[in-house]
Amino acid sequence: MKIYDTPRPLAQYLDRHFQCGCGKEHYAPLKMVRIGKNALEELPEGIRRLGYGNVFLIADRITYEIAGKTCMEILEKSGIQARIQVLGHVAFDEATVGELLIHMPMDCDLLIAVGTGTINDMTRFFSFRTGRPFFTVATAAPMDGFASSIAAIYVNHLKTTFPAQTPEAIFGDTDILKNAPYPMIAAGLGDLLGKFTCLCDWRLSVLVNGEHYCPAIAELVETCARRVLKDAHKAGSRDPGVIGDIMEGLVLSGVAMSLYGNSRSASGCEHHMSHYWEMIFEQRGKRPVPHGTQVSVGTVLALKLAEALREREVDFARARRAAMSYDRKAWEEKMEEVYGPAAQGILDLERKAGKNDTEGRLKRIDAMEEKWGEIRELLEGLPPSGHVAELLTSLEAPSRPEEIGIDEELLRNTLLYCKEVRPRYTILQLLWDLDILEELSEQVIAKYRKKPEPQTTE
Ligand SMILES: [Zn+2]
Ligand SMILES: [Zn+2]
Repeated sequence: MKIYDTPRPLAQYLDRHFQCGCGKEHYAPLKMVRIGKNALEELPEGIRRLGYGNVFLIADRITYEIAGKTCMEILEKSGIQARIQVLGHVAFDEATVGELLIHMPMDCDLLIAVGTGTINDMTRFFSFRTGRPFFTVATAAPMDGFASSIAAIYVNHLKTTFPAQTPEAIFGDTDILKNAPYPMIAAGLGDLLGKFTCLCDWRLSVLVNGEHYCPAIAELVETCARRVLKDAHKAGSRDPGVIGDIMEGLVLSGVAMSLYGNSRSASGCEHHMSHYWEMIFEQRGKRPVPHGTQVSVGTVLALKLAEALREREVDFARARRAAMSYDRKAWEEKMEEVYGPAAQGILDLERKAGKNDTEGRLKRIDAMEEKWGEIRELLEGLPPSGHVAELLTSLEAPSRPEEIGIDEELLRNTLLYCKEVRPRYTILQLLWDLDILEELSEQVIAKYRKKPEPQTTE
């Protein structure tokens, strides 16, 4: 069928093949999503509708208390055969996979992950390996990766990535979700707020690089992010309506990635910052804050850079001179210094992508000069950084780099060099192309150097 001209409710995008004006065919394999009050009551109907009847639930002690017990009661009442394994220790490693294998009934035809983080990851992997489909019963909504198709498992104490499977159905009972810890709610919201900067990055790349673009998917994600932003201040009082909207937004963001076939609609420079921090923290043996929390801090930074750019005249002749005098060797040495043991991967990536090469950069500068009006307009459409920061503060969530363990030096390296973690074009590369990344980064850093301002003046 033809893709809709205007965004429709999430359910209308599931398990349907779309022909799209962007030239791609879109398909998301997720079959069912139920989010709302008493959504768990619909579990039996969902199981029957998709043709299953003998389920094996996977929970840990905490998620068993939060939702697993209720799931078992509901399934028992409806006459569906169900067994549950409540894991004692929740590391995603060989021992846990073995425990599941021992206890899984041979005749079960469906797995259900009761939980969002490790439990969901583990079930995605286990489901893939045992050839059995699975559902997710969410106990929190901290990020949009529910439907990711890889899972990272500890093998011999080393984190290793394996192919996994996406769920057929996702259930989010808002009475359960609203009781999730505050930092998890704020992290989910943060991952969603990042969609503004990531969509802006995508559109910048369309103007500057002629990158492929799907207006239908971009609009779908943006409409949903705007809806959540409008009421997000109510998340602080655990308003079930807003918590449901955040959960739905995160599922939709995952669906949009499936529809498009990659993460372009979900991940831009705010995610590159998060990837970079994960890498550096791992090198330093420090535990980073949750993904969505990092993304929200990255989003505020990206918005501040966009604001700084809006206020500045751009000198294209200077940009061209910088492109002509690009020193690859100096750049490589800098990568060794900034990325340490991860530098080789970064060098290999750039060798393939060549995104810093002079020829391509000059072409992009030409395109920018020609389309500067449109670029400015795009930047003006972004939400104000102060608004987003206040929102996070009202949820007692971090919005400033130092609140998540990023000192000034790491912040500087982030703004200048995190763009190298992926070849994807973002505002950071655009500023670098224009030879003003350093200058605008210093402006942003200087703002953070001051004492926190009263909320109203941000
Ligand atoms: Zn994310
Ligand atoms: Zn499309």
